[in-house]
Amino acid sequence: MSIASTFKQRIMIQEHFAHEQLPPELDPLEVDVLKARIKVLLKERDACLVSHYYTDAVVQEITEETGGCISDSLEMARFGSVRPEQTLLVAGVKFMGETAKILSPEKRIIMPTLEATCSLDIGCPIDEFSEFCDQHPDHVVVVYANTSAAVKARADWVVTSSIAVDVVKHLEEQGKKVIWAPDQHLGRYVQKQTGIEMLMWEGSCIVHEEFQAKGILELRKVFPEAAILVHPESPESVVAIADAVGSTTQIIDAAVRMDNKQFIVATDRGIFYKMQQAAPGKEFIAAPTGGSGATCRSCAHCPWMAMNGLQNIVDALENLSPEVFVDRQLMEKAKVPLQRMLDFSRSLKAQSLVQA
Ligand code: SF4
Repeated sequence: MSIASTFKQRIMIQEHFAHEQLPPELDPLEVDVLKARIKVLLKERDACLVSHYYTDAVVQEITEETGGCISDSLEMARFGSVRPEQTLLVAGVKFMGETAKILSPEKRIIMPTLEATCSLDIGCPIDEFSEFCDQHPDHVVVVYANTSAAVKARADWVVTSSIAVDVVKHLEEQGKKVIWAPDQHLGRYVQKQTGIEMLMWEGSCIVHEEFQAKGILELRKVFPEAAILVHPESPESVVAIADAVGSTTQIIDAAVRMDNKQFIVATDRGIFYKMQQAAPGKEFIAAPTGGSGATCRSCAHCPWMAMNGLQNIVDALENLSPEVFVDRQLMEKAKVPLQRMLDFSRSLKAQSLVQA
């Protein structure tokens, strides 16, 4: 990605934050009233909730209380497509709603807001990306799930962080070279793990990019027994000091599996809700970011994920809006690399069952 594109991306993000609408703070009574209303509306609308680990705890609570799914983007996509309900309310960011629509085109997909986007999606506009791919026709195009439907439609493979290394290893074994987009840090991590020849699109996640190795090592002096858990969207220097690196689900699994009682966690702090449930009795400490307060763009919590709240979930269910629409032709094209990932994930699971 050119310096001009990086600059354009930063301007777009700043403009977005200038108009950002965060859900209001709620008192316990308001929370109860809204939760009760959501339970009624879900039944009336034949709907279920599908929420990401990075949404606020109160959103994850209502998702759980109503039998919905809280997970990473791979599992969210899979869950939505196998549920009997005809309406899915996706609490997350826009590409997750689009992915749900692509995999379940017959269903109505609604979201609390369509304004919730992702710096990786913003940083990979289809025209520039397509031109980049056209310049390297001998490369297999692998894109991260955090992209628009148009970018997915241009790809050979879509991957999430939980399956990226396995897919790229599979391509490396076939002697392929790949174009990787859009997260440069995850791309570098995958490249290192697999040794594949890779051309990189230089996007980044504004949340993970803020973590700094120096601050984390300072924090570990205060908690010397703590293990460091890192999402691979973080910079290489942060990945290098990790005791475990992985996707959101893999980080939660590591917290359960490892003997440590304390963990410094370099990913969105929304994940603490599920981590505390999965590993009760253990302590989770947010990794420090490069700035704090006004100088920090994220402070370990995605500003777009934070736009999902109980009130806009109620509004979305009442109005069945905003609804996610994706152009039909685009959906058909984007479904091919997405389905390839889901099929690959299924075959990996089957193999591991045979080996077990
Ligand atoms: S945490 Fe980062 S990658 Fe995830 S939605 Fe927010 S900006 Fe995008």
